[in-house]
Amino acid sequence: MKLLSVIGAIVVAAAIALVVVLAYRQNRAPEENAKVSVQTTAAATSAAPKKAVTAAPKDAEDPLLMVVNYQYPIEKDYKLELTDSYHYSRVDKRATAPLEQMLDDCRAAGYQPLICSSYRSVEEQTTLYSRKVYQYTSTGSTQSDAEREAAQWVAAPRTSEHHTGLAVDIVDAGYQELDEGQMDTGTQQWLIKNCWKYGFILRYPLEKKKITHVHFEPWHYRYVGKAHAKAITQAKLCLEEYVGKD
Ligand SMILES: [Zn+2]
Repeated sequence: MKLLSVIGAIVVAAAIALVVVLAYRQNRAPEENAKVSVQTTAAATSAAPKKAVTAAPKDAEDPLLMVVNYQYPIEKDYKLELTDSYHYSRVDKRATAPLEQMLDDCRAAGYQPLICSSYRSVEEQTTLYSRKVYQYTSTGSTQSDAEREAAQWVAAPRTSEHHTGLAVDIVDAGYQELDEGQMDTGTQQWLIKNCWKYGFILRYPLEKKKITHVHFEPWHYRYVGKAHAKAITQAKLCLEEYVGKD
């Protein structure tokens, strides 16, 4: 009997110790997680917008970081090597495999990404832009006002990133409107979260409009390569800031 009660006491003591350890660990866990996430945020912030920009002269020579915007039109003799990707979309051959991998993985995650625009020639852009300008002039805007307004929605010829072959517009097959509603689709949520892993960035974020001069476009992705995409995303920069052309 005596031996049995000693064993019983040991078992009870062990059980109490286990409960105490588990409770301690449970309490610790969130704190540890919090520390990790604080570190991540700190790392992201100190991966430093400004440091990235100071490093820009070397990085900016990477052809994948070419800036094409309202200030920097594409060169007239820019040479492209295009490849046909999904849906016969033409993209720069360096972006083709990463793009297909990203779309495959997005589909495997249960979403329905659909490329609705990729490479565009200057002639095609001219048609789109003229149509947009006409929308404004036909409702009474002066030519220069109409051009300025239109350019925020459809880039003027030679200033569209689509001329580079490195930009794609991707929508959700179940919601193909090019408006902020795209943001709420599962496809965009997945792409916005994961695109950097494939070398893409969301090119025109809401909070960068003053720099990009382009309205929020939660469908326009730009290929810059994996290392740059990671650095740009972590530091919460837009391309202009990253290469020091803001
Ligand atoms: Zn676009």
